[in-house]
Amino acid sequence: MSKKVLVLGEIRDGVLRNVSFEAIAAGKKVAQGGEVVGVLIGESISGLADQLIHYGADRVATVEHEKLAQYTSDGYSQALLAVADRENPDAIIFGHTALGKDLSPKIASRLQAGLISDATALEEEDGEMIFTRPIYSGKAFEKKKVSEGILLASVRPNNIAPLEKDESRTGDIYPVNTDIKDIRTVIQEVVRKTAEGVDLSEAKVIVAGGRGVKSEDGFKPLQELADVLGGAVGASRGACDADYCDYSLQIGQTGKVVTPDLYIACGISGAIQHLAGMSNSKIIVAINKDPEASIFGVADYGIVGDLFEVVPMLTEEFKKL
Ligand code: FAD
Repeated sequence: MSKKVLVLGEIRDGVLRNVSFEAIAAGKKVAQGGEVVGVLIGESISGLADQLIHYGADRVATVEHEKLAQYTSDGYSQALLAVADRENPDAIIFGHTALGKDLSPKIASRLQAGLISDATALEEEDGEMIFTRPIYSGKAFEKKKVSEGILLASVRPNNIAPLEKDESRTGDIYPVNTDIKDIRTVIQEVVRKTAEGVDLSEAKVIVAGGRGVKSEDGFKPLQELADVLGGAVGASRGACDADYCDYSLQIGQTGKVVTPDLYIACGISGAIQHLAGMSNSKIIVAINKDPEASIFGVADYGIVGDLFEVVPMLTEEFKKL
């Protein structure tokens, strides 16, 4: 049975994040031939609506308000609920990002709806949508469905391929006017901790360093390799705890969960808490001087050697391509 699905587009620094297009691809599957309505929330954001349509949305609802210039769960939930009230959807899809993790449970509670968070795949079985999500820090997967009421789901970045962009697609873009009131959170200041350049959670290539990099300067060759590959630098908690880099780079159970096409782990032992954040990467390369290091257990390619020799060699070779 065809369904109407709302998909929240996520904007950062005036740009739509890739996970928005992945969420639309998920929304298309959930709609089963029905309608996908993109939702954009912010201040002066309607110029981005076309992109959601190019990636598969049939229509886009925009909620623009000066109080929505920065994300707050209060403001965004009022805006999204106003769209839901008008559209009466069967499902709402979010990206499983910091924003999606904060907003989706709030919306689920307001709508008394079931929420499947952190989905990495979805498929139709006998007319029902079955979502796959990792559990126990990625050691097992469970399949879930929402059998009653509105379905809410968040999709993990880099897992569901976006549809091919089609700039000839057109669709209605319409404003939803709502009074935004009672925002109890006041943003005093935004302190950016993430490094400039490629966003770690959406990077296709990640070069990650562990305690084996030995110092802040030890990350320089990793950054050079990441730059040549158009990727981002990440880290183990060991490296963050040792003050070699900022905690915003931490990957793992208590850090970011990433699923790049290529993950190069340099001087990382492969503790279970680190694997929880990266073991679903498509190709894993491990560089470690200890041939017994656990990271080799999940690696597709292992290099036993000193990272300070291996990483610059890789950078030089990739530069030639
Ligand atoms: P180490 O275990 O010290 O490994 C360093 C590795 O570098 C070694 O294998 C060594 O052989 C290699 N090495 C040294 N020099 C070189 C060289 N020159 N060339 C090549 N290799 C070299 N960890 C996370 O990463 N993310 C998390 O989210 C996380 N959450 C946690 C949550 C909890 C509740 C707990 C208890 C722990 C958590 N940890 C997390 C910590 C985790 O258990 C490990 O302590 C941590 O991952 C170890 O970091 P590491 O691999 O960089 O360091």
